[in-house]
Amino acid sequence: MKIDHILDERKLTVSYEIFPPKQDSAFDSVIACAEELAELDPDFISVTYGAGGGTSANTVKICSHLQSRGVTPLAHLTCLSSTKDHVHRIVDELKDQGIENILALRGDRPKDPDFVAPGDYRYASDLVSDLKTRGEFCIGGACYPEGHPESGHKDRDLANLKTKVDAGCSFLTTQMFFDNNMLYSFLYRAQAAGIRVPILAGIMPVTNGNQLKRMMELSNAYLPPKFLALVDRFGDNNEAMKQAGIAYATEQIIDLVTNGVRGIHIYAMNKPDVIRQIVGNISAILREAR
Ligand code: FAD
Repeated sequence: MKIDHILDERKLTVSYEIFPPKQDSAFDSVIACAEELAELDPDFISVTYGAGGGTSANTVKICSHLQSRGVTPLAHLTCLSSTKDHVHRIVDELKDQGIENILALRGDRPKDPDFVAPGDYRYASDLVSDLKTRGEFCIGGACYPEGHPESGHKDRDLANLKTKVDAGCSFLTTQMFFDNNMLYSFLYRAQAAGIRVPILAGIMPVTNGNQLKRMMELSNAYLPPKFLALVDRFGDNNEAMKQAGIAYATEQIIDLVTNGVRGIHIYAMNKPDVIRQIVGNISAILREAR
């Protein structure tokens, strides 16, 4: 099913993100994770895509598995490091598997200083425009409540986001954030900038100190004192940090739902037990709101 139809139909959507294995030998464990998440009745599950394209085959395979299991898949697709031919091959595979939803991304610039982009796509909006010519896909895009790290200026970033939406995005998913006020302020500014598509709130449960370090390399999210205190206090104890991280994410979601946010997208990090606990904590709230 197309995600824009799901978003139209439901008062609240809850979705999860998983990533494909780097090694094929771990493929079955990712499928087992997808299976466990499928049991939690998500509105859809998204599957990330390696920026260098290394895991593209697995992204398609996992999406195809979800599809056969009756769960709507959202296939991520990046473009900066790819030629049009390569992207079109992946898109044709998705089409062949009956996958209707694509999250169109630019991808991060590889760290290699000698990297030269093929040049077929510069921004995600170029990919969105190209995908519009390749079939009847429902296309989503990424957005950044605190501004994309490269943009330097939030208003410029928002204007670029509007260009991406106008190119053909039906919905947006946010980068992780740990202070809901960042999201509320962004939703207000997006509305004022004329962005009218649904915006799904990306929630990352932080369940260990190392994960936080890696995340901070990837995003410039503001860490509120309450969150930092929790990592300071429990970061060295895996079990305690896991419980605290689950509680923090749970609180964030309750506040978002209470304030009328209609899409929660949880970065599941291939840890279905964490997601099971979060949605278990708020099962009555989710039933009521959906
Ligand atoms: P864009 O929308 O192209 O924006 C990138 C930068 O370019 C921004 O600073 C923007 O302001 C600027 N820009 C855009 N258009 C213009 C323009 N016309 N002129 C000037 N500047 C412009 N990465 C992966 O490798 N694989 C994944 O599966 C993946 N999934 C993600 C899912 C979500 C929900 C999010 C939030 C991010 C994900 N990423 C993923 C990371 C993403 O690829 C990076 O954040 C990347 O740096 C930007 O991608 P984008 O699609 O947002 O790019």
